[in-house]
Amino acid sequence: MAQLYFYYSAMNAGKSTSLLQSAYNYRERGMHVSIFTAAIDDRYEVGKVTSRIGLQAEATLYTNDDNLFKQVFNSHRQKPLDCVFIDEAQFLTKAQVKQLVEIVDELDIPVLAYGLRTDFLGEAFVGSHYLMAWADKLTELKTVCHCGRKATFVVRMDEQGQAVTAGDQVEIGGNDRYESMCRKHFKQLVWDQPRT
Ligand SMILES: [Zn+2]
Repeated sequence: MAQLYFYYSAMNAGKSTSLLQSAYNYRERGMHVSIFTAAIDDRYEVGKVTSRIGLQAEATLYTNDDNLFKQVFNSHRQKPLDCVFIDEAQFLTKAQVKQLVEIVDELDIPVLAYGLRTDFLGEAFVGSHYLMAWADKLTELKTVCHCGRKATFVVRMDEQGQAVTAGDQVEIGGNDRYESMCRKHFKQLVWDQPRT
């Protein structure tokens, strides 16, 4: 039986690298895979999953309006799929996570989703929330805070290097950068600060 896997982490824990490595392993054995990534992420070339260490693969972009089950169903009918990969899975809607469940349970195709657990305020992303709830297997990809503890939170830094403590969950086209930190350091920089 196929399963739904959710690989979650803070930033820069190698999610895309892990996805690309797994997809490569499937393809190396002559298997057919499909890779999706969120259209919201414009850091790299459109329609590609790119890892910081230089690996990349073409991907189908999805938006909140797309029915991933229908897309996979149609693709699977033309050429059987052995695995479906989802990058930036935190941006999935609740309905789309359900569509992933349908892909696994009705089409018997494994789905491997990779995403951030929480946003820059420590709130769960919708996609990650439902993947946490419904996936068969949860795996944490680890990275470290500057203090050496495991980093489970993401801090958004403005151009002056100050932690951002309010704003939209998704910021497009800004110059802010993100840093992974442990809960203690995240708390000091974000939760313990007066809201601005
Ligand atoms: Zn720390």
